[in-house]
Amino acid sequence: MSSNMKNSSGNNKESQSDLNFDTLALHAGSEENFTQALVPPIFQTSVFELENVDMGAEFCAAHNPSEFYTRWGNPTISQAQKVLAQLEGAEAALLFSSGMGAISAALLGALDPGSHVVIHNSMYAGSTELVRGFFKKIGVEHTFVDATNLKEVESAVQENTSLIFIESPSNPVLGIIDLEAIADIGKHNSIKTAVDSTLASPYLQRPIELGFDIVLHSGTKYLGGHSDLTAGVLASSESFIQECWKYLKLFGACISPFEAWLLLRGVKTLPLRVQQQCNNAFALAKFLESLDEVERVYYPFLDSHPQKTLAERQMQAGGGMVSFELKGGKGISRRFVESLKVIRLAVSLGGVESIIQHPATMTHGMLSEEDLAASGISPGLLRCSVGIEDVEDLKRDIEQALR
Ligand code: PLP
Repeated sequence: MSSNMKNSSGNNKESQSDLNFDTLALHAGSEENFTQALVPPIFQTSVFELENVDMGAEFCAAHNPSEFYTRWGNPTISQAQKVLAQLEGAEAALLFSSGMGAISAALLGALDPGSHVVIHNSMYAGSTELVRGFFKKIGVEHTFVDATNLKEVESAVQENTSLIFIESPSNPVLGIIDLEAIADIGKHNSIKTAVDSTLASPYLQRPIELGFDIVLHSGTKYLGGHSDLTAGVLASSESFIQECWKYLKLFGACISPFEAWLLLRGVKTLPLRVQQQCNNAFALAKFLESLDEVERVYYPFLDSHPQKTLAERQMQAGGGMVSFELKGGKGISRRFVESLKVIRLAVSLGGVESIIQHPATMTHGMLSEEDLAASGISPGLLRCSVGIEDVEDLKRDIEQALR
């Protein structure tokens, strides 16, 4: 950090470790605030002036320097990284231009040609495609498992396995995987464990505290929270972050300072937003279950969810996502989503507005019929990301669309 930038509150770092999550979401990273401004400025620059040539050489070889060239690092990005690391309870975090950027870098950091990854069979389709396409091409083997079945995970572990990669809650059928048990399998076999925790956000679950090595997020979703940015987060140990940063720099998946700043702003209201989304989603899940037109509802805290007890143990609330099947299958589902007025038809999730989508043709449309079935995605399944609206308006919208 150059000497002309003032660290206005460097003395409050220690006390931050005592803060509860809601307070931390507001105040984390304030020790990285280089001015007296309550809201941190955006360092909207691609490059930084150097004092001499030696300094240039030093920064060029350094890990993630925050004042050299923005693909290497940037003060706004560094501040957001510190905040995300604190919220996840990780040693360090890296920000990327998208969730897929973070997932790609983590897999590149953990897997070498000739190694093997055990991967959950019901994940965000981009993760599945990446492992089955790119990583296979560079000589990484994989085994798909139902990671809700711990025996299946254990028996898929091979001599050359170097990573277990899961997603919980999983997308879109909201399966819950026992994070502590998977972390134990990883430790027992000296294998790294990675979880895509996007659907929970650090407000609902903190996998590093349960023994996970790597936590991934599409920051585009709950962390940003307003559907106005794309970002990815990788939280882990300092040494793994250093390894992955090389890929961030070389593949160029760096977040822009403005989007890092939007993310900083977004996380301040993460607890409020997500709590309201969880309240609405739980109420909507129960409402949907009461309707004759609905075949099945997927929501982790419903009595009908097979992993309800586990979900209650490892998550603070059931999350803001509800998936459901209407009686009558694909044709009815399609007419239904096109008849909604308040709930909008769109992919993505985690924003303050409620949105709905049809996974079999949209987010998971690239999967074969066989893979869709293995992921539990029926032709009529709908996935709703519940927002912060008055839930009575959402119920009325569903009723009018069903009519
Ligand atoms: N992980 C999950 C669970 C997602 O839902 C998504 C995107 O929808 C991603 C990762 C990829 O994130 P991004 O679109 O920010 O690259």
